[in-house]
Amino acid sequence: MEVQWALVCHGLVTLLVLVSFFCGQWPIFQGTFVEKLHYFLTFGAYDYFLRFVGWVCGDRGTNVVLSVEYYCCYRPNPILQVTYLAILGATFYFIVDSSFAYIPNYYLGEIHKYISILAVGVGLVLFVLTSFSDPGTVKAENVSQYISAYPYDNIIYLEKECPTCKIPKPARSKHCNICDRCVARFDHHCGWMNNCIGERNTRHFLLCVYGAVAISLILASRLKEMKVVHFLTAYYGVENSFIGLAPHVSQWLLTFYNMQILLMVFLGVVSLLMAAFFGYHTKLSLSNTTTNETFKWQDYLSLQRKINEAKASTAALKASISELSAESRPPPNKWRSFFRRSPLEDAEKVVKKNIYDKGILHNLCEVVFPPSTRPSFLPAKTKSS
Ligand SMILES: [Zn+2]
Ligand SMILES: [Zn+2]
Repeated sequence: MEVQWALVCHGLVTLLVLVSFFCGQWPIFQGTFVEKLHYFLTFGAYDYFLRFVGWVCGDRGTNVVLSVEYYCCYRPNPILQVTYLAILGATFYFIVDSSFAYIPNYYLGEIHKYISILAVGVGLVLFVLTSFSDPGTVKAENVSQYISAYPYDNIIYLEKECPTCKIPKPARSKHCNICDRCVARFDHHCGWMNNCIGERNTRHFLLCVYGAVAISLILASRLKEMKVVHFLTAYYGVENSFIGLAPHVSQWLLTFYNMQILLMVFLGVVSLLMAAFFGYHTKLSLSNTTTNETFKWQDYLSLQRKINEAKASTAALKASISELSAESRPPPNKWRSFFRRSPLEDAEKVVKKNIYDKGILHNLCEVVFPPSTRPSFLPAKTKSS
């Protein structure tokens, strides 16, 4: 029985570590143990490690660690790409090793073996496409094409030059410090793909994330059914109810299928995270916004709100000064001031005016067929040739 409990604890700890690492900074975990664990896993542990190295090896040791950190976090490198492939490969290997022997069975036909191989293959192709395709690098030769494809909204994008590339900066583009280039319709730099996600590879990226969700679901379902309920009720005479079956089923599964249980917990968590990530990027695509722009809009809206609140407060202050200076007025009623609206409520509402959002269908079309690749935006020379 101890072995089963050890496995349950192992599963729970894996779940806790994965959730803390990936989602610990979410508002729902604020002030909880999960947030503290997230901080420890992302910053705290590294900080202790750095101090330990400094204590043991001195400044030289610390400098080596810092230059490794610089390479890993601030330069293009294939570390996460290799990690992704290793996780995918190892998970699939363990599934084939532990569960393919049970296929075909009562619920799953032989074909499911081939579907899972195909899913992993398609996932790999999309991963390679996203990793090695051009995200839409802006250069002196093609900058005019991007400027005509993406007009300035004069709200979050004003006409200016990239100080590093010394070329005009088209609207919606951003200079990626890791890749050291300007990228059109910049979304974010993806460490897993070792590439920027921009105008020309958002479509592959979306499909790749969708592929990852599908693969994890397919692999998880591969492990789903081992006919245990059928065995227990038919051969062991256990009462066919949830309460009657639950302890026996969990004991059975943990004894004979512990590898499958661990894989299922891992894939379940990964599926949930990937589904959330896919949902987020689908929402962005449907409203024709990028991850980079959501931060820009947040900054813009909070600044505008503060300006409007300051204006409203000034107006309220002026009004109360003129009220005080009017001598003929009766003494102010204390209840009136109690129920008076706060000047902040009179502040003008700030709205987000995203000029690039032209309706769901049009927005999706832009992701699949990037505007700068359309004939109408190609330079005249290319058109005539
Ligand atoms: Zn640049
Ligand atoms: Zn980049």
